[in-house]
Amino acid sequence: VQILASINFKTPIRYLSGVGEKRAEQLEKLGIRDVGSLLRHFPRAYQHRGDIKPLAEAKNGEIGAFLLTIGSEPKSARLKGHMVLTKVAAFDETRSCTLVYFNQAYVKDVFTVGATFRFWGKVSVRGGRIELASPDYEPYYEGRPLPEFTPLYPLTKGITNKYISKIIDTALSSLSVADCDDPLPKKVRERARLTELDWSLRAIHRPSNYDMMDRSRRRFVFEELFNFALGVSMQRKEVEKTYAPVFEKTDMTPFFDAVGFELTGAQKRVLSEIEADLTHRDGRQMSRMVSGDVGCGKTVCAAAAIFMAVSNGYQAALMAPTAILATQHYNDLSALFGRLGYRVELLCGSTTAAKKRRIYAELASGELMIVVGTHALISAGVEFKNAGLFVTDEQHRFGVMQRAKLAKKGENGLSAHTLVMSATPIPRTLALILYGDLDVSRVDEMPPGRQKVSTFTVDESYRDRLNGFIRKQAEEGHRTYIVCPAIEAAEKDEDGSPSESIVGLDYRQDRENQPELKNAVEYAENLRSRIFPDLRVELMHGKMKTAEKDEVMSRFAAGEIDVLVSTTVIEVGVNVPEATLMVVENAERFGLSQLHQLRGRVGRGKAKSWCILVSDSKGQVAKQRLKTMCETNDGYKIAQKDLELRGPGDYFATENGARQHGQHPLALSSMCSDMDDLKLAFECAGDTLQNDPDLSRPENAALAEAMRGFFAASAGTMN
Ligand code: ADP
Ligand code: MG
Repeated sequence: VQILASINFKTPIRYLSGVGEKRAEQLEKLGIRDVGSLLRHFPRAYQHRGDIKPLAEAKNGEIGAFLLTIGSEPKSARLKGHMVLTKVAAFDETRSCTLVYFNQAYVKDVFTVGATFRFWGKVSVRGGRIELASPDYEPYYEGRPLPEFTPLYPLTKGITNKYISKIIDTALSSLSVADCDDPLPKKVRERARLTELDWSLRAIHRPSNYDMMDRSRRRFVFEELFNFALGVSMQRKEVEKTYAPVFEKTDMTPFFDAVGFELTGAQKRVLSEIEADLTHRDGRQMSRMVSGDVGCGKTVCAAAAIFMAVSNGYQAALMAPTAILATQHYNDLSALFGRLGYRVELLCGSTTAAKKRRIYAELASGELMIVVGTHALISAGVEFKNAGLFVTDEQHRFGVMQRAKLAKKGENGLSAHTLVMSATPIPRTLALILYGDLDVSRVDEMPPGRQKVSTFTVDESYRDRLNGFIRKQAEEGHRTYIVCPAIEAAEKDEDGSPSESIVGLDYRQDRENQPELKNAVEYAENLRSRIFPDLRVELMHGKMKTAEKDEVMSRFAAGEIDVLVSTTVIEVGVNVPEATLMVVENAERFGLSQLHQLRGRVGRGKAKSWCILVSDSKGQVAKQRLKTMCETNDGYKIAQKDLELRGPGDYFATENGARQHGQHPLALSSMCSDMDDLKLAFECAGDTLQNDPDLSRPENAALAEAMRGFFAASAGTMN
């Protein structure tokens, strides 16, 4: 493999010294393709190893850094099952201890008597003796200080933290970052008082103090917000130039008869806003979002718009983020439109090839007027004869690019109208910013007769009673969701240690003493084998394949599962009216809006429903947030409170938030706790586009390139 002497951001990663073909393939899994993406593989957290503890102060179970000198020759012993145990005595000025390594006999060559190392590991105190089990070690030489913080990177199979750190060091030392490499225009940097790219890259990877972490993090968060803001603003401009068919006013009487219930005042108001858009004589494309709390009845608003389209002779499509949601919409709409004399078809990835071909043909000929589906709807091969309306059910907020794709022009030179349904109640101030490319309608009233979901916060001491309550629900034929914040236990050896010992890159989380995270895999296993061996317990999480998740969800909906242990993947609007209990573990870890979404999964049927928030957190903010949940069921009130307490970042959060850096184009934005920065990013984007509407000026070259990457990534991973 050829090693290049000089490298830049675009240098393919395999040419970086120490990488090569095989490593390059593994790194690709982390989204690292070139030196630029390597340097944007940011730490997810830091260990504060510069904070050296005297051994005498070490407490059982604590994780920390110790500066120790080797006191005796390491001794290895062979145990049963090919296990080799190596023990070494070490000491500092205050005490001595034993280091214990399993199957790492090579440490014998490393630990020479009298040499000093900085160790990092978990302390166990047994009978007054201190032991460190397989601590990480770095040689220490007088006068050569070791780095204060050790970054922890998101990892993948075969790629260790040490390895990533090493190649990042290589890249940082052989790269010179010029001002023109910085995608953030100088003006923006100055206006927002942001640090330069070169400094920021070095600071975020190799900080020597908290201030460096703070300032570099803010810069990269801002950069992402700025990209997002540019995308939204460019999309808005696009919408303003886009024309769609002008509809005639539709007689809605047959539709209302077919629906079978009286629309709420809010629904009627939203319908009239939609109608005004669709019938407006200026021919501008409708680009509207219907936002409303879970269960407020957005679907009927979308259905009404679809009815207007088909009554005018135009085809309509509804796209949902998952197959199960698409199926649910399909069931609702085909029943409703069946009564109105229209056939509806379902198009998903799993639809048989023969059926797909038939649907494609019928859409192209105009024989089929209404189609519901997943992403399959925007795949190649789907052509509409006469598309008039695209509805998307967006569980998250970043369909910016997909909306652009959906709205592509038909043969007649016109685009379809677009309607977005969003189940995220969002404060108006924030909606105006985040959804700047859409007009917003709010369904801010619930249909009559909705029951309130009783909500309580409990701590560990209620565990037995809680389990008893879950059992009681199952015995009465009801179903329970249990949501955990993590999928699996953290891989403790390589990629760090339990959360209390690290400084998260996400500063909104308290720096210290976080209760340990419940993970769905172990939780489900424990319920299955020990607590509820007689109940049907299943597991679902984001690392499972879409088809597997759909399968579990369908069985839960069908009543074949009593207790579903899951991560926030169940947040999406699946409707299981028999589910009466939502238990959220480590509730302090979730945003309020997210908790409210989760709570919205229950209380959908006739039976009394409950939401139990389990939290041992002592933090004041956490307590206040959970109290808000117990006090109100109003999604807009909760969203407002959340914005005040935590800032706008939660609106960008995804499952396991910060773990997905580099894979999710808005992962860093979830750390934005400052509404002013979000506003400023949009102002800066507006200014930039004012001077250079399509980013074609030479000084914006790096920016234009970053935007393209951002949109390519958005199109790939967004809902
Ligand atoms: P969401 O806004 O969360 O998507 P849906 O559109 O799925 O909510 O509506 C939730 C339930 O409420 C559905 O079963 C729907 O039929 C019912 N619903 C909607 N509007 C009304 C209304 N005005 N009166 C009575 N029931 C309604
Ligand atoms: Mg819905």
